[in-house]
Amino acid sequence: MIIVKVGGSAGIDYDAVCADIAALWKEGQRLVLVHGGSGETNRVAEALGHPPRFVTSPSGYTSRFTDRETLEIFEMVYCGKMNKGIVERLQRLGVNAVGLSGLDGRIFEGRHKDSVRAVENGKVKVLRGDHTGTVEKVNTGLIELLLNAGYLPVLTPPASSYEGVAINVDGDRASAALAVALRAEALLLLSNVPGLLRAFPDESSLIREIPAGDVESYLEFAQDRMKKKVLGAAEAVQGGVGRVVFGDARQAQPVSAALGGAGTVVA
Ligand code: ADP
Repeated sequence: MIIVKVGGSAGIDYDAVCADIAALWKEGQRLVLVHGGSGETNRVAEALGHPPRFVTSPSGYTSRFTDRETLEIFEMVYCGKMNKGIVERLQRLGVNAVGLSGLDGRIFEGRHKDSVRAVENGKVKVLRGDHTGTVEKVNTGLIELLLNAGYLPVLTPPASSYEGVAINVDGDRASAALAVALRAEALLLLSNVPGLLRAFPDESSLIREIPAGDVESYLEFAQDRMKKKVLGAAEAVQGGVGRVVFGDARQAQPVSAALGGAGTVVA
């Protein structure tokens, strides 16, 4: 079993990702695809007159402040345009894909955090009305039901809170939780960079290998959203996933390349 997470940043070649996944699937590879949609969500939110607001926690993690209106725009893009775009590509390639959010069947479930601590103008503020959280539970039964019936699950945030409220969760960490719950042999986190760079944005500074026992010490190289990927990788390998690869989704056969060890391999 492999889990492929493809991000939502500019430059990602979804046609290449889907073609590669379709080929692997037809060879009998069991897999689940998880996707993001941040770039397109930002564009749509601007167009709808509700521009995105990113906040940075005192420990340096950046996240999208998700009030109710933002959550609804987020759902339109992630569960609508992005999810159905990927499902359509796979269907055209002859793969019977089923697109679901973490809310559906409570595939991703976790605690709702209503307030977030954010550093603004050098001061720590508490912002309320946030619809975010972290995935703590995965409904593996529903995923296995689909896989065993021959369907390829295509998953996306949001998740469901324990109270049944939609919450925005980080896709990389949700994928890590999924990989652990499904005892996946590999988690591939594909984005618009060659992997974790020692000196971002210098692509020649690619870190090729990270020892599984030492992932956290590589957090210092990751800025903003890359931090969540490194954190997700640490959670996955600590949870028993064989290896995590940060791979490049701007090229042909991005999934096979990452499976073959191109990018940053955490093992
Ligand atoms: P996605 O939406 O594809 O999951 P993110 O935008 O969340 O991806 O995270 C990837 C981004 O992280 C890259 O596009 C890059 O701008 C940024 N980044 C920050 N630090 C690093 C680093 N050390 N190595 C690679 N990318 C980094």
